[in-house]
Amino acid sequence: MHIHDLIGIGFGPSNLALAIALQERTQDGQTPVDALFIEKQPQFAWHPNMLLDHAHMQISFLKDLATLRNPASPYTFLNYLHAKHRLQDFINLKTFYPSRHEFNDYLSWAAGHFADQCAFGEAVVEVHPEFQGDRVALLRVRSHHPEHGVRERLTRSLVISVGGAANVPTPFAPFRDDPRVFHSSRYLGAMAQQNQPRRMAVIGAGQSASEIFLDLNNRGGIDVDLVMRARSIKPSDDSPFVNEIFNPEFTDYVYQQPQPQRAALLEEFMNTNYAAPDLALIEQIYQVFYRQKVGAPQTHRFLRRHEVEHVAETREGLSLRLRDLDQGGTTTAHYDAIVLATGYVRDTHHALLEPLAQHLGNMDVTRDYRVQATEHFGPAIFLQGCCELTHGLSDTLLSVTSVRTGEIVDSLTQWLHAHRGTAPSRHLAVAF
Ligand SMILES: Cc1cc2nc3c(=O)[nH]c(=O)nc-3n(C[C@H](O)[C@H](O)[C@H](O)COP(=O)(O)OP(=O)(O)OC[C@H]3O[C@@H](n4cnc5c(N)ncnc54)[C@H](O)[C@@H]3O)c2cc1C
Repeated sequence: MHIHDLIGIGFGPSNLALAIALQERTQDGQTPVDALFIEKQPQFAWHPNMLLDHAHMQISFLKDLATLRNPASPYTFLNYLHAKHRLQDFINLKTFYPSRHEFNDYLSWAAGHFADQCAFGEAVVEVHPEFQGDRVALLRVRSHHPEHGVRERLTRSLVISVGGAANVPTPFAPFRDDPRVFHSSRYLGAMAQQNQPRRMAVIGAGQSASEIFLDLNNRGGIDVDLVMRARSIKPSDDSPFVNEIFNPEFTDYVYQQPQPQRAALLEEFMNTNYAAPDLALIEQIYQVFYRQKVGAPQTHRFLRRHEVEHVAETREGLSLRLRDLDQGGTTTAHYDAIVLATGYVRDTHHALLEPLAQHLGNMDVTRDYRVQATEHFGPAIFLQGCCELTHGLSDTLLSVTSVRTGEIVDSLTQWLHAHRGTAPSRHLAVAF
């Protein structure tokens, strides 16, 4: 069975940027790395269910897949614009923040150059150890394709970049399979399945909750309750000095801190990313509620300081028991559908690596994003997008993506250079 140098799990922006960094390294004359990326979506798509009409990037286009690592890369956003004959028109827009549709098109264009290194439509389910004596020599990556079933592949190293998984608050857990209750990560697809909902709730106070509230308002004919524990919707702080926390060198600073100080830094700058929509969006929402006060029909409600206590199915649809965190009492409201704009959890790598758990301890990562392992564990495993606790708030965003992949590629290729010869080259039996 073929042994890959590297398998990348997930092919979102993080592993796409990694594929670019690897290709550019080979073009510089270095030994090629035999890399394969396994992606569960049928083709490249960047948060496709949140490609809302008026949504735009929350980060400068210069923090694209390559510019900060190599401004001369052919995969910069500027070169994409040039290739699409839109560079001059984009300049006339006078913006650093392209629409999310355009950025998805840019990412898809870049991903198209790596089609021969991608296995689309396969979800990786587990990674198993492959022993040579008492030593783990390789990794066996097991994936599942809806039509072709289970597939296994061998690799010397892994880069796991699977993004976040939907965070579903406890009261909604029994409704995970109910098509009327869905997370923002499924928004557009799930809305297309609804049967003309008239009353909806959006739970959350962040960028996604705000975008979805406005999208529902613009659709017309839907009464929307915006439900949040917070007293107010606070804007994201993207002022210049604060923005310096997203500079690549700040990652060194965070990593060098003891854990309590890292946690304190996360807390101090939480409002740059979590429950913090763009100010312009907040102003639009305020306008919507203000127009209702002037005399438009009162279709929407802003239920601040409200917490969902209980969810039930009734004859009228879905009901939420809402606790008023200021007054203390509860009320019950009925909905046809509920959107959970309740954020993401980033622990999928633990489930994928469960069969390796005894070799990986707490899955602590070094500065170069490599998981620390026992001395009998040969393969190298790198993580992208789930190292916020050690590497800071930029880890889940695009801010350091290009620079981070350069760091990982440096570390990975040094490691491969030292270890390529040590893994078994014989063909290994494999079960399908
Ligand atoms: C709606 C939305 C808008 C955003 N806008 C911005 C922005 O403007 N600026 C910014 O900096 N950040 C933004 N972010 C943050 C976002 O995390 C990054 O933009 C970026 O998507 C991170 O890339 P990634 O590759 O690490 O993760 P993802 O983009 O989440 O990609 C992970 C990929 O892994 C795949 N995958 C997951 N599990 C498996 C598996 N088991 N097997 C195979 N494949 C798997 C997924 O299908 C996905 O394609 C946004 C996030 C969301 C949800």
